Amino acid sequence: MNTLTIDSLELKGKRVLVRCDFNVPLDDELKIRDDKRIVDALPTLKKVLKEGGRLILMSHFGRPKGTVVPEMSLKPVADRLGELLKKHITLAPDCIGDEVKEIVMNMKDGQVVLLENLRFHTEEEAGDEEFAAKLAELGELYISDAFGVCHRAHASVSIIAKYFDKVASGYLLKKEIEYIGGAMKDPKKPLATILAGNKISSKIDVIMKLIDISDKIFIGGGIANTMLLAKGVEVGKSLVEADKTEVAKEILKKAEKKGTKILLPLDMLCGKEFKNETETKYFDTDKQEKEWIAMGIGPKTVQNYIDELKDCKTVIWNGPMSVFEFENFAKETFEIANIIADYTQNIGLISIIGGGDTAAAVKQAGLDGKYSHISTGGGAAMEYMEGKKLPGIACLSPSGFDGKRKFLIAGNWKMNKTPLEAVRFAGELKKAMPNNDNVDIMAAPVFNSIWPVYQELKKTHIDIGAQDVFWETSGAFTGEVPAKMLKLSGVKYCIIGHSERRQYFHETDETVNKKVKAVLKEGLVPVICVGEKLEQREAELEKEVVKSQIHGALAHIQLCDRLNIVIAYEPVWAIGTGKTATPEQAQEMHEFIRELLTVTYGEVFAQSTRILYGGSLNAANAKELLGQKDIDGGLIGGASLKKDDFASIAETAGKLI
Ligand code: PEP
Repeated sequence: MNTLTIDSLELKGKRVLVRCDFNVPLDDELKIRDDKRIVDALPTLKKVLKEGGRLILMSHFGRPKGTVVPEMSLKPVADRLGELLKKHITLAPDCIGDEVKEIVMNMKDGQVVLLENLRFHTEEEAGDEEFAAKLAELGELYISDAFGVCHRAHASVSIIAKYFDKVASGYLLKKEIEYIGGAMKDPKKPLATILAGNKISSKIDVIMKLIDISDKIFIGGGIANTMLLAKGVEVGKSLVEADKTEVAKEILKKAEKKGTKILLPLDMLCGKEFKNETETKYFDTDKQEKEWIAMGIGPKTVQNYIDELKDCKTVIWNGPMSVFEFENFAKETFEIANIIADYTQNIGLISIIGGGDTAAAVKQAGLDGKYSHISTGGGAAMEYMEGKKLPGIACLSPSGFDGKRKFLIAGNWKMNKTPLEAVRFAGELKKAMPNNDNVDIMAAPVFNSIWPVYQELKKTHIDIGAQDVFWETSGAFTGEVPAKMLKLSGVKYCIIGHSERRQYFHETDETVNKKVKAVLKEGLVPVICVGEKLEQREAELEKEVVKSQIHGALAHIQLCDRLNIVIAYEPVWAIGTGKTATPEQAQEMHEFIRELLTVTYGEVFAQSTRILYGGSLNAANAKELLGQKDIDGGLIGGASLKKDDFASIAETAGKLI
């Protein structure tokens, strides 16, 4: 995903709020046992300081669960950071509040303030809007560099981003996106994946995804036992998930179908008991005796894996090959670690080491620093590899533009569903809607349901839309809702100029333009509706009508807002009527709109702007319509009120990428 990076920000004199992951392990005397997380953050921090920025750092630490636990203060981190940066670090007494604000507002260029543990407030993990807004007040720019928590929709991780005009990734996050994101999307082939560790059950989704993209998968650790058991092999007293053999069979079946080679261990290192000091013996996998426990792969397997790795250009390693924590069982894991390090250094293998246990294993082998990338995230790395949209990364590209246009499947609920029905329906959507990195989803409830629906959906991949907005910011305008309030209610997208509003509420191009400006000012994404009436089409005026609507809507809008709009082409005669434009008619209009945008606003603007089709789009016609080159999603009325239909449209979009 092409998010903005720190390099594109003007940092001089700015209060730069950086979300780090300083959750380092401490010993009994509250001394830092391993400062890797602090060290890994340094390139970003040094860049801000070098450019003359004012550095405001925030992090969680431990699990204080919303109360102030003195042992979980970030004081040890402030001390260590001071040593590493050779600078005084001011540790703020809290992360929000007047005192903190005063400290931050009085900062000078090049100074560093570390906010106290974010998780002293329950609102952090709850993803609370107001808490996020208070944090956001402290900075002028926001940089996300805490990959380890990017899979969490916490206040400081993702919710906060919408309060900034400029958000970017720091160097640590940039590298995670480049390596893990790059390998999942466009790996240098052949790609080998090493899947090991204890349990299949915790890795099913990632295994299924990796089968899709890998050429070879090497199996080790406890996972190997379950796979072998599924093949009818005796595994003795080894750690297995006997109830997961069906899953293991499914994995083998899928791999066969996809042509992905699965390599299972040829031999195992076994112990009499599950401890370091115990009798050990190697068994060929088909000859393992009942009273032994497999605790790692054996030398024949190591050799086989080394041979098979030789022609690979990329390797993703997820999970240790043996119980490396026991010295007597570490050898085989270290041998694999060694060979990957060697190939990386000498024959250009791209090596990506998953976080958690695998990172710990290579560190114990003394080899960290010898791989292309060691992930700083355990759970986050897994979810990223599964292809899930991580809230902490997704929030960095507000327009959804990432080099190629992402589909946007947008539901307009119009005047349907009571608040209770809306929340229930949102709960159903949460389960039903596919979570695909290439498809954004929006649901636009009635105004009074926006907040409860947002509460239901805020930790999911479904964003909230509003059906209208007013252009003034405050004042005596009975019945109207300003953009800022929408934003504070969790709204990301705002439908503007819908044909029903043009028809029944005297919406004009001029009022549309005022609304678009108001929405952009708040960092929301306008979904600008355009489209001709039946008589206009019959008079062959459709292009002229749409052209003047687009020019009217975008009049006097700064080009710097270019990545933040969506246009919905909705022929009025097709809305709610059951009549749809043919795919050819729709494509012709979409192409026309894109050309219009190119001529008027330039290539970048035109290529990055999503143009949705609207007008009786449904599960049956979605494939043909969304399959058109210039159609980037749908604005959907009727079909968005039926969960299965809406999910099916999103599913169709996901398959069209
Ligand atoms: C809409 O309301 O924008 C719309 C396209 O409705 P429908 O899908 O019901 O035609």
